[in-house]
Amino acid sequence: MVKINENFLKLPGGYLFPEIGRRVRAFSAEQPPMPLIRLGIGDVTQPLAPVVIAAMERAVEEMGRKETFRGYCEETCCAYDFLRFAIQRSYKEQGVDIADDEIFVSDGAKTDCGSIGDIFGLDNVVAVCDPVYPVYVDTNAMAGRAGSYDGERWTDLVYLPCTAENGFFPDLPEGGKVPDLIYICSPNNPTGGAATREQLKTWVDYANAHGSVILYDSAYEAFITQPGIPHSIFEVEGAKTCAIEFRSFSKTAGFTGVRCAYTVIPKELERGGARLRDLWNRRQGSKFNGVPYVVQRAAEAVLTPEGQEQTKEAVAYYLNNAKVIKEGLSAAGLTVYGGENAPYIWAQTPGGMGSWDFFDLLLKKACVVTTPGAGFGPSGEGYVRLTAFGDAEETRSAVERIQSVLK
Ligand code: PLP
Repeated sequence: MVKINENFLKLPGGYLFPEIGRRVRAFSAEQPPMPLIRLGIGDVTQPLAPVVIAAMERAVEEMGRKETFRGYCEETCCAYDFLRFAIQRSYKEQGVDIADDEIFVSDGAKTDCGSIGDIFGLDNVVAVCDPVYPVYVDTNAMAGRAGSYDGERWTDLVYLPCTAENGFFPDLPEGGKVPDLIYICSPNNPTGGAATREQLKTWVDYANAHGSVILYDSAYEAFITQPGIPHSIFEVEGAKTCAIEFRSFSKTAGFTGVRCAYTVIPKELERGGARLRDLWNRRQGSKFNGVPYVVQRAAEAVLTPEGQEQTKEAVAYYLNNAKVIKEGLSAAGLTVYGGENAPYIWAQTPGGMGSWDFFDLLLKKACVVTTPGAGFGPSGEGYVRLTAFGDAEETRSAVERIQSVLK
């Protein structure tokens, strides 16, 4: 009789978004007085840049001719040279030297953040920020690194609280288990904060001192507006011997439905006598056959000067929504964080209200869908997350509606 991976049975069943969906459907069935505005999900809404469309059309045409047709990608790291070198150049422009064979192209940062655990032993201690992007927790739980779920926490994970008191950036652990794998996401989903160089340096030094590895998710780096905030952890001295970086074209260039991302593992990063880059290369070679040629051409187009210009417009559009939400909710008396270097706004609930109660209030009275902070971890209680990925006009109306509910 086959044995299943029983770790899956311990998962609390994708509680957050299904539960939001259930509440929204129930409310919609009651015929709400106004159309719903969704500021809950983290998906983009602006179309692909013209330069990207043109590159895809050209690539499709090439695939239709015998002379230019491409099959499996046989080049280094599952990526065509043209894209690996373009990514390498884009790092260089940010002041970071990366070798092209340290860059692995994939179909998503979610895929890579979720699969990177394959190269690490199951007895590693994993630390996650709290609140956190749920993928890091769930994938470690599936692998059996998280212990059991007690209704609020996983028994074997180290939770690093990110609260208003510590500026939503985790303090180093004091006592207790030393984490081997440390997930850091900056700019952060859900709190909308972005780590400074000094903050990152404390964790880089910690990881180098303890032989830990930082799994650094910078899927939202394109949203950084404040000068001096690092776009890459490799801008921080010492990071190449302790960090892996995940990046994505999803939010930078509207690729959530196109699918392209990349992971950087410096050759200097060694643990247990092995280069982690080589282990990942081996893993990808056995489990992955690369991203479609058409998509890699699209991603290359994003990194051209014209592509950068055009995709920045969409990022600016979302950041303007973020500003509208942040200023509007502050004017309504809420304490609001994030939204300046990230497309997420983290709003404290009024009067100590629970995050699901505030979610319900905004849903029922303003017909606006948000995400309750408690769904991202225990320290998310007392907050809701709003996203800036909506339509500008709808975002403005949502803010006006919330303001009138809070009056
Ligand atoms: N990392 C973070 C922090 C995210 O919020 C998301 C998507 O919402 C992803 C990664 C997923 O990126 P991708 O679309 O490249 O899989």
